[in-house]
Amino acid sequence: MSWIDKASEIGVIAVAEHLGLEVVQYSGHPSIKPCPSCGSEIRSKSSGDKRGPIGPRKDLKGFLCHRCKISGSPVDLVAFKEYGVRFKSLSREEKDNVQQWFEGNWGDLGRYENNYKNLEPQYPDSQELETFWKTCIRITESKICRAWIEQRWIDPEIVALYNYGTAIDGSTAKFPWATFKKKNWSDTGYQAIFPLYNPQGKLTSVRARWVSYQKPLSKVINPSGCEVQGTILADRQALAILQEKPLDDYDGYIVITEGDPDYLSWATRNKENTFATFGVFSGSWNNDFASKIPEHSKVVVATHYDNDGEKYFRQIFDSLKDRNVKVYRSNNKHLDV
Ligand SMILES: [Zn+2]
Repeated sequence: MSWIDKASEIGVIAVAEHLGLEVVQYSGHPSIKPCPSCGSEIRSKSSGDKRGPIGPRKDLKGFLCHRCKISGSPVDLVAFKEYGVRFKSLSREEKDNVQQWFEGNWGDLGRYENNYKNLEPQYPDSQELETFWKTCIRITESKICRAWIEQRWIDPEIVALYNYGTAIDGSTAKFPWATFKKKNWSDTGYQAIFPLYNPQGKLTSVRARWVSYQKPLSKVINPSGCEVQGTILADRQALAILQEKPLDDYDGYIVITEGDPDYLSWATRNKENTFATFGVFSGSWNNDFASKIPEHSKVVVATHYDNDGEKYFRQIFDSLKDRNVKVYRSNNKHLDV
């Protein structure tokens, strides 16, 4: 193992602590301050936010400063602290110094190893996300997105009416996370944008869907450098349930779908808001969502009939099994719980 790989295994928290940076534990999640590049001590101006500006990646092999957007590996953290630039921009001699720093500190660094596992997922900055979302265009105004929706027999007017999806064009605000291979999403085929909510029903992230003609490598992408676990697609009624104020017409049925097209099909047919539609994907569902499902609900899991679809069903079923909630598989086979 090279010394750089070994540094990655040690992780950014241990390196930050040993560099004399402060590791702040807030709600069980570590963050780092101050940023060795921009000097910021805070993540955001909101007084309730006690996190440091730097968030470690979940696997601890990387970090991101939410203020100045520097990012990199544990080796880069040392380079920024000592020289103000990334490791690869250092001279031969400076690189040797960074290597020396690690070589001289393995013993101490090892003490911190694997101490932090409960890391928060990294989402786009909430103010940037709000600006991005506000500067998206109606999905019906994008020819290419409209065609993608209509090909799936989904009503684009309903999608637009309730903002179940939007589109981007050149006028949409540009952020480093709204890129794919360093191109803005609007310059790629990823032009349909779907909003993702956290268990409190707050817009937390987005995913971008390929709507162009030639086949992409992946149909859906997440914001670059960010994660989407712990977020979900939610129609009006589902969002109201997460915000703990179900709309009057709620009939107690919840449909949980998989993937954007299935989610949109169900959500757009739900014109009277009688039921609630959620859309899940990998890493989406968790116990916080389960706890928001109202008592006496009937949950229909309409995920695909394949390994992933069964996995989602099992996870949702298990998360609700001690609750006064009925969980059905969409082929009518039902399980009382
Ligand atoms: Zn910074």
